[in-house]
Amino acid sequence: MTLPESNRACVWVGARKVEVQQRPVKPVGANDVLVKIISTGICGSDCHNYESDKVSRQLVLGHESSGIIEQVGPSVTDRTVGQRVAVEPGFACMDCEFCLRGNPNTCANLRYCGMDPTDGTLCQYVTCRASMTVPIPDRISWEEAGSIQPLAIAVQLGRRANLGAHQSLAILGCGPLGLLILAVARAYGVKKIVMFDVEQSRVDFAVKYGADAGLVPPAREQSKESLAFAQEYATKVIKEHGMSNGFDVTVEASGAEICAQMALCLLKNGGTCIQAGLGKPLTSVPLFMLTARELTIKDAIDLLARGKVDLKPLITSTFPLTKCAEAFEAQHARKDIKIIIMNQE
Ligand SMILES: [Zn+2]
Ligand SMILES: [Zn+2]
Repeated sequence: MTLPESNRACVWVGARKVEVQQRPVKPVGANDVLVKIISTGICGSDCHNYESDKVSRQLVLGHESSGIIEQVGPSVTDRTVGQRVAVEPGFACMDCEFCLRGNPNTCANLRYCGMDPTDGTLCQYVTCRASMTVPIPDRISWEEAGSIQPLAIAVQLGRRANLGAHQSLAILGCGPLGLLILAVARAYGVKKIVMFDVEQSRVDFAVKYGADAGLVPPAREQSKESLAFAQEYATKVIKEHGMSNGFDVTVEASGAEICAQMALCLLKNGGTCIQAGLGKPLTSVPLFMLTARELTIKDAIDLLARGKVDLKPLITSTFPLTKCAEAFEAQHARKDIKIIIMNQE
């Protein structure tokens, strides 16, 4: 099988500096597929790399990719040429005791796409194990397909919180993750959802996207200790929104310390508080992402295919891969909600 000649890739070359480079396409092994990548979402962890000056080598960025299978290895029986797939970003070694036991999702040597030192998927072609691809139906647009990974994380968090009807939910942070959790909560029939952010425009967007209410907490007075402030504000919100004893579930999706405190203060006794903020160091991300494995990705795809979740309003910009530098500057400026890169353009 001949490999494609051009494989343009978006490569980190220095702090806030990416470059389009040609990279070789990895040969297709017996159990591999070659995926022509069509779209890739960029997110906070890509941007963390982008801004860093400590990446160990010229790394191909990106990990939220979907595309079309172009070649299948001779031993692959359950994937076909032309199939649309999402690519799972974690690569198990297939050699350690966990992999050999049939649990590659707990692999001891997991490498994560786009995470130093493993090259990512912001390129035209990716060769990976067939089992690392999840089929996606035609109904899902390529732009939406580029958001399946973060949606899967929201599904995973929703599952961990046991989200369901008759529940009330508070989400701290109206960034992409908070909005995706909102979308999943709506799909699960959660009764009441209140969202918080320090930026009015983000809160307004959340309300337009389906939150029952959106609130901008007042700035904390210097003299007031943050926990006391959080407590006071939470009590006021709970009262004003008729939540009697507090929310059943709160999700901290901002990474700010004050929000973590607020998430606890808004909670009713026996409620569930989920810490989802990605303000944590990037090293905690792979383990966190690890939980969003195949089944969860399938559930995310299912929600999209059944129209239970509409990601289109969240996708505020698309860029061709050749303009990846502009895409990353836009992500850095944080004015967009979700940016998708079209890898073949
Ligand atoms: Zn991501
Ligand atoms: Zn392993």
